[in-house]
Amino acid sequence: MTNAATTPAGTPQRPLPEPTPETRPYWEAAREGRLLVQRCNACGHRQFYPRRICTRCLSEDLGWIEASGRGTIYTFTVTHRAAGPAFEPLVPYVCAIIELEEGVRMLSNIIDCDPAQLRIGQRVQVDFLQLSPEIALPVFRPLADAEGR
Ligand code: ZN
Repeated sequence: MTNAATTPAGTPQRPLPEPTPETRPYWEAAREGRLLVQRCNACGHRQFYPRRICTRCLSEDLGWIEASGRGTIYTFTVTHRAAGPAFEPLVPYVCAIIELEEGVRMLSNIIDCDPAQLRIGQRVQVDFLQLSPEIALPVFRPLADAEGR
């Protein structure tokens, strides 16, 4: 778990996710350092982000599996111009689509990396940024070379 206490005083706080009935288990697990993926109990389909119904069979009988937290970079972009004042201290930052080992893709950030060294297909591991007492945001960091290939 990493603290996000890098925002200088006076900088607006970054917007926080607001858990809904569908996403609450996901956020509660993230707070415990676990990454959950929704799984349909009717057909086995896995999906991200959490929804009320299965996007394959429309069943409302959905459950959760705990992801390994490992995946690969499907695509990414390096942001040099902040999306808002709260993000200015973070530039340049990396927004990426991560393909988890469980087969779903999720949008997140790659942290603690040299953006110029990132490549599509590179292996990454989840970590969690504690943004507030309730919200731990899943982010990813590259696996070391020996593990990342
Ligand atoms: Zn289904």
